[in-house]
Amino acid sequence: MYLSNRAVIRTERNPVRRTMDTLLGVLDAWAFAGLDARARAQGWQVRRPVPLVRVYRNAAFDHYVCCAACAGEGESRSRVCGDCLGSGRTRR
Ligand SMILES: [Zn+2]
Repeated sequence: MYLSNRAVIRTERNPVRRTMDTLLGVLDAWAFAGLDARARAQGWQVRRPVPLVRVYRNAAFDHYVCCAACAGEGESRSRVCGDCLGSGRTRR
């Protein structure tokens, strides 16, 4: 588990606010449970910046770097770059 996956839990003094936070947390967990499980099963990183928002990222993108031949443009001299086939990214 990544540290960023942990929600920041703060103690709210206002009982109404505390109840709303609890309900929001339950709704958040219910709404994203299936998506989060599927993403983690595929090895994706799941980040929760704020309630009801998720950021999913495939860790396979860590293996790609900017193409040195075309500087990430995907083409050089009006031709598709042969090293990256126009994507602008190559594997490390
Ligand atoms: Zn290239």
